[in-house]
Amino acid sequence: MNKANYSQSVCNRFWNKVKIPKDIVNDCWEWTGYKKPTGVGEIKINGKNVSATTFSYEYYNGKLLKSVKFYRTCKNMACVNPNHLMLKSDSRYMEYAIWDNIIVPEDYINDCWEWTGTKKSGYAYYNEVRLSTFIYELYYKEKISEGIVVRHTCDNRGCVSPNHFLLGTPQDNVDDREKRNRGAKGQNHGMAILNDELIHESLNKVLNGSLKSINQIADYCDISRSIIEKILNQKHWKHIKLSYTDDEWNQILSIRRVMHKRK
Ligand SMILES: [Zn+2]
Ligand SMILES: [Zn+2]
Repeated sequence: MNKANYSQSVCNRFWNKVKIPKDIVNDCWEWTGYKKPTGVGEIKINGKNVSATTFSYEYYNGKLLKSVKFYRTCKNMACVNPNHLMLKSDSRYMEYAIWDNIIVPEDYINDCWEWTGTKKSGYAYYNEVRLSTFIYELYYKEKISEGIVVRHTCDNRGCVSPNHFLLGTPQDNVDDREKRNRGAKGQNHGMAILNDELIHESLNKVLNGSLKSINQIADYCDISRSIIEKILNQKHWKHIKLSYTDDEWNQILSIRRVMHKRK
């Protein structure tokens, strides 16, 4: 390597100060020499202080034209593993940087992932990129075609959990909104749009195994997950349970436990 053409003696001096782990790709390469108060390593070369991070990056990638800020995917300031360093201009930079602003909950399958960064009309944005689209494509490795939008099954625009995303047309989104408004005006706070038949249909699908999570029930009924949870928790529509035996009801409730275990 040594793409930066540092002298052999400088290279020796540098690498003698680096603890290389067994798993050289995934684990951090610890700088054991002098560190600045920020924790970033530093080495003197020809009387000039050079950051250990920059040295390592240049060693493998060639000299940088100007000083740059690195993003460390490992968050370890003393690490000089080039696999953990990324430039802001890197095409994959955003994949890593967004995580600083996402609160991933303990129950990351069922609960919302809150975005704490910039929002527009309540939707999460990073540098003018709508995150629901970005994260959907990242997770499902599928480009969203033109005219298709990402909808939230949780009704929480600031949520960026791919588990709560559903593709649809802009018209679906308008319909979602209208349904919610109509429901809110109705007698049962948004419950009015659901009918017993649809709920029973979906719960029967849980019993025969074709629906396996609260999200799937929510998708099937086209309603927010929180309402399904309220029904299962007997906070709403208590009469639904009456159509089932205790065993059946327990089986239906077990989908909540299944999701919690899958961590
Ligand atoms: Zn590292
Ligand atoms: Zn959500």
